[in-house]
Amino acid sequence: MVTAYIGLGSNLADPRSQLLTAFDELARLANGRLLAASSLYRSAPLGPAEQPDYLNAVAALETGLAPLALLAELQAIEAAHQRVRGERWGPRTLDLDLLLYGDQRLDLPTLKVPHPGLYERNFVLYPLAEIAPGLAIPGLGALGELLARCERGSLAVVEKAIHGRPHAPD
Ligand code: ADP
Ligand code: MG
Repeated sequence: MVTAYIGLGSNLADPRSQLLTAFDELARLANGRLLAASSLYRSAPLGPAEQPDYLNAVAALETGLAPLALLAELQAIEAAHQRVRGERWGPRTLDLDLLLYGDQRLDLPTLKVPHPGLYERNFVLYPLAEIAPGLAIPGLGALGELLARCERGSLAVVEKAIHGRPHAPD
């Protein structure tokens, strides 16, 4: 079994329920289990500015699926959320990125791991550090070092994780 980290993002069609449903779907994937789910974070969109803010989170999975099999499962979940692929970095109901797969580095046409944007994206690094603070990123070094070089900016926790699951304030 390998620990994989998944980045979740949504800025359409009730992002909160998109992410909470996606956590459940990740938890139900064959041959593994959900180890942790970060808080939900609000972030400003990358790319085209005329789109709603994003909600982002990171999940840790223990998985027996091979990297490409896991990617296929992530894409099936995206499809189930009726994601319509439009412009690059355009709005989406659900985006699932395979951030890390154990300590492996992959440079395949359809799968780059660690995810190429990981090292500089606050909406990835902050939630990742929440659930795996001591992590070393293959080829990039300590997560803490990356975090120290990454501005938090307007990134805000909108729903705190309690016992490894997001939980709305009372
Ligand atoms: P982005 O997430 O960069 O906004 P997309 O989700 O539309 O863009 O990109 C999906 C494509 O990226 C897929 O075709 C997939 O094969 C490729 N890809 C490469 N590396 C990864 C990765 N680590 N996680 C998810 N998709 C990846
Ligand atoms: Mg993606």
